[in-house]
Amino acid sequence: MTPSLPSSGSPGVGAASPVPRGEALSSDRPPRREDPPDPSPLTLLDFYPPQDPRWTRIAPFFQALKDGRLTTTRCSRDGSLHWPPAVACPKCHREELVWVDLPRDGSLYAFSEVRGGAPLGMEGGVPFVVGLVELTGAPFRLFSRIVGRAYAGLTLGEPVRFETFPVRDGRVFYRFRVVDTPASP
Ligand SMILES: [Zn+2]
Repeated sequence: MTPSLPSSGSPGVGAASPVPRGEALSSDRPPRREDPPDPSPLTLLDFYPPQDPRWTRIAPFFQALKDGRLTTTRCSRDGSLHWPPAVACPKCHREELVWVDLPRDGSLYAFSEVRGGAPLGMEGGVPFVVGLVELTGAPFRLFSRIVGRAYAGLTLGEPVRFETFPVRDGRVFYRFRVVDTPASP
């Protein structure tokens, strides 16, 4: 009788992995080197480049991030300020919007720590802190990654400041850093 692999429910797995037998069975083979944990969210949870004007009319938001600026849209008819940036005013439904800079400083309105079940591409960064930032002088709060201090050392009302960071694929995104902490991840 010919020896066969136990059925794994995945037909063809053995045949599709032509690993040399001696190497596969060697017990003194060094452990496979894994990539070190990723300390920051260098991957974004999206499925196409959102800053590209071919895909979205809020492309100026992402272009401004590359210049180190946090921006959003304001309705030029009723003056309402939107978050997230809009392509039509949610109040009057007009499209006469202008891009404006937002304040860079704020405070932590709420925060939590992600310890598991991180979004796709962010698993290597756990644990990490996310929070709602009350932007000074803006009529809304932003959800963001919070960096610079561990969860246990944070308090409500903590001053935080906007900063940008590079994404692995060349894009730029934003996060907030606890004020007076070093500019490392
Ligand atoms: Zn409006």
